[in-house]
Amino acid sequence: MTNLAIIGSGPAGYTAAIYAARANLAPMLFTGRQAGGQLTTTTEVENYPGFPEGIMGPELMNRFEQQAVRFGTEMKTGCEVSSITKDADGAFTLKWHDLYQGTEESAKFRAVIVATGASARYLGLPGEKDFLDGTGKRTGVTACATCDGAFYKNVPVAVVGGGDTACEEASFLTKFASKVHLIHRRDTLRASKIMADRALKNPKIAAVWNAIPNAYHTNDKGKLEAVTLVDTVTGQESRLEIKGLFMAIGHTPNTKFLKDTGVKLDGEGYIDVTHGCHTNIPGLFAAGDVRDHHYRQAITAAGMGCMAALEAERFLSH
Ligand code: FAD
Ligand code: NAP
Repeated sequence: MTNLAIIGSGPAGYTAAIYAARANLAPMLFTGRQAGGQLTTTTEVENYPGFPEGIMGPELMNRFEQQAVRFGTEMKTGCEVSSITKDADGAFTLKWHDLYQGTEESAKFRAVIVATGASARYLGLPGEKDFLDGTGKRTGVTACATCDGAFYKNVPVAVVGGGDTACEEASFLTKFASKVHLIHRRDTLRASKIMADRALKNPKIAAVWNAIPNAYHTNDKGKLEAVTLVDTVTGQESRLEIKGLFMAIGHTPNTKFLKDTGVKLDGEGYIDVTHGCHTNIPGLFAAGDVRDHHYRQAITAAGMGCMAALEAERFLSH
């Protein structure tokens, strides 16, 4: 039986791994399908302490991983955990899917840290799933400007949302697009002042206030060519010609795979923690965005990863 499973490879998971590995717990870390987590979808991270010049998101996560491996973390790359059950002997059985091998596997662990973060939300409009099914049947709707921005050179695009992500994505997209419409359902941004100012001062960004897209229009090749916007104040509809729509309307915690575990979730699906990083199940800990809808920063996720590893170490020593 392995001591500790860490599920997730964002700042929380890797930090938990660094601490647990240095405590000789020989943890096994499951990366899931997004190795490195949310920061691999962004460009420069300016607020992670220790990098006064800033650091690119993927580079930062690469460094987290190297540090976790250096102390003996066993990496299960491309492995996505599908269920956790608490056994009669107090241990946990994890089942996972190896996305590279196409196999299903399972093993027992004495303790588990869940650090599965959160995934981008979509609007849920008719036909939206066709843009996301990976077949290329319909294109032009995505949630990652860093990944897909370069496909939209010299054409108009839009970002929907009013938070830091929306401002950051809009600013980034001005490198490629001819125009970036920032569509927000209210008339004030939720984003931090520095991010909002940067976006609104950019001459290539045009704010579209009090609006939500409510239909996609594609050409005969399945490429997005426009959206219908509905005014949230007047209810009036208008058409906005764009070739790409980037979602930045927040995230949903990745907790679906915990449904048979008995772990307590809050109304929005985030893991409920008591003190520190304890869940209602002894030996099961939670860290990072999967249990935090308030701060949602790399540094807070990393801090919680550290806390969870220290709690797991104490639990295992008893
Ligand atoms: P995540 O980074 O979400 O990682 C979750 C991990 O869990 C992933 O590796 C995923 O593959 C894995 N996983 C999920 N389900 C499973 C499963 N079933 N089995 C196995 N693994 C699974 N914060 C800042 O502080 N500064 C910034 O500049 C900044 N920029 C951002 C830019 C963007 C575009 C976004 C979206 C977020 C940004 N944030 C920023 C927020 C920051 O990225 C998050 O707060 C942080 O990544 C949360 O870390 P985490 O470890 O909790 O989870
Ligand atoms: P967020 O702060 O939750 O903002 C989501 C935005 O989408 C809000 O403006 C919200 O509108 C809007 N929205 C939500 N549901 C919608 C819907 N169905 N239709 C239309 N609009 C909808 O999410 P985020 O911007 O992804 O940020 C998440 C966390 O990551 C935050 O803590 C943020 O600080 C952090 N982050 C930090 C940085 C950075 O520091 N550089 C960069 C990116 C993200 P309302 O405002 O009306 O609710």
